[in-house]
Amino acid sequence: MNSFSFLEKSARQWPDTVALLQGEESHTYAHFRDRSLAIGGNLLALGCKTGDRVAFCLANSPRILEVVFGCFAAGLVVVPINARLHAREMAYIVENSGAKILVHGPEFAEGIALHADLFGGLTHQISTDAFNTLLNPANRLPCAVEAAPEDICWLFYTSGTTGKPKGAIWNHRMIRVVIMNYLADLHNIQPGEMVLHCAPMSHGSGIVALPAVARGATNAITTSASFDVEELLSTIELLKVSHIAFMAPTQIIKMLEDHVPARHNLSSLKAICYGGAPIYVEQLKQAIATFGPVFVQLYGQGEAPITITGLTAAAHQKLLDANDLRIGSAGQVRTDVEAHCVDADDNPLPPGQAGEVVARGDVVMPGYWKDPQASAEALRGGWLHTGDIGYFDAQGYLFLLDRAKDMVISGGNNVYPREVEEVIILHEKVANCVVFGIPDDYWGEAVHAVVVPKPGEMLTAQEIIAFCGDHMAGYKKPKAVDFVDELPVSGYGKILRREVREAYWAGHESRIGGGASAARALV
Ligand code: AMP
Repeated sequence: MNSFSFLEKSARQWPDTVALLQGEESHTYAHFRDRSLAIGGNLLALGCKTGDRVAFCLANSPRILEVVFGCFAAGLVVVPINARLHAREMAYIVENSGAKILVHGPEFAEGIALHADLFGGLTHQISTDAFNTLLNPANRLPCAVEAAPEDICWLFYTSGTTGKPKGAIWNHRMIRVVIMNYLADLHNIQPGEMVLHCAPMSHGSGIVALPAVARGATNAITTSASFDVEELLSTIELLKVSHIAFMAPTQIIKMLEDHVPARHNLSSLKAICYGGAPIYVEQLKQAIATFGPVFVQLYGQGEAPITITGLTAAAHQKLLDANDLRIGSAGQVRTDVEAHCVDADDNPLPPGQAGEVVARGDVVMPGYWKDPQASAEALRGGWLHTGDIGYFDAQGYLFLLDRAKDMVISGGNNVYPREVEEVIILHEKVANCVVFGIPDDYWGEAVHAVVVPKPGEMLTAQEIIAFCGDHMAGYKKPKAVDFVDELPVSGYGKILRREVREAYWAGHESRIGGGASAARALV
């Protein structure tokens, strides 16, 4: 089944329902289908053949979903690129995927022209200024081409925090599974509901758009195409938004910081999906107390989109009411996914024992694009090795500790940064923090914390270390603490722990932040 059929069906059942909405621009489902068929036909007319790659680098807009469904219709492989990447990084993905066509926003034209030699493999670059060339009705396909479940339709490039990004291959079967699992296990979007996008649609938000299309809901996009708390909350009120497609935890924290209590009527909200990085329990509790029992957690990765485990809004509420610590988990394994943890030799571990999370099921990619070695390594033994360390409890709730590479080994003890961060964040003067290991002659690695104090608050390293000592084993306490004004985050809103950490491994000195607050406080 070609994934285009989800759109085809919605266009037949709800032709006049608004499918895509951004500011003054709106398209009904019938219109969305016709435009996507036109895009598919025009891509073929430009010389694309079945299975060719079409990349896009676009700020959030209806164009993203039109290009995605246009590629589905024509049997092409869509390659979303994060619009926050540098032209060189964009070029790497274009080159690695072998894309023939790049659809981009006009704002990227200059960067692409500056590095034109790196984009030499493209046959066409189409700026959205000239998007009409893709809408020529003369080339419109009468219907989508046939596609088999295993036909490749999407390359999802990983964020590349551990080297060059790799293209996780997605096929039509995976898209179907993503849609069905989302509706069945996480949040059952209803026809005509309003789903709002405020995070990059090249990533999680765009994937949640797929079940919204399948259900005939409206995919609305913030007018600014970016994330601004006041705009977001006023849009929820104005459009009676029922569902925010996806938010990174850093966006939830920003929402907590910047919202004006009671200014907007948010009663239409039923779900805010979040994931992609840990949220600290304390912040999650505050978010639920402030915005209601609407938070839905997803845990997955580009290699198994977008959920291996999940926690519904109702489950959050139930755990919160029972004061159950599992509110801090990543939820339970999805209905048609298998997952457990393994030791370093790939032996399954019993509940409670930490190891690498592995997953199996139709949601798992068949491999990485043009990288058989990395594919074999990631999929050894028929299981996706996620690189995430965690443990399942007896009821199957997954507690994620950290990425395998982020674990600190201090004096022979394993310390998971997240455990320490969960404690530091409880301190009333702390706004944010990140923990990692730094080289230490005695301990091998020493636990190190970098803390962002709340505005106007003064803190000392001793205060943080003593606070940790009240909550956790001595060996897990940070040996030293630095203070900074802010932490670097990725284009997808993830705190870049490894970027902060690298500065310490290079020179053993703090090189981040700046100003008086960055003074190092060793104890
Ligand atoms: P990406 O492929 O860019 O979506 O990144 C996937 C990675 O993000 C996972 O392997 C995890 O390390 C992390 N991640 C995703 N969802 C969660 C979650 N709910 N809680 C904690 N970490 C998460």
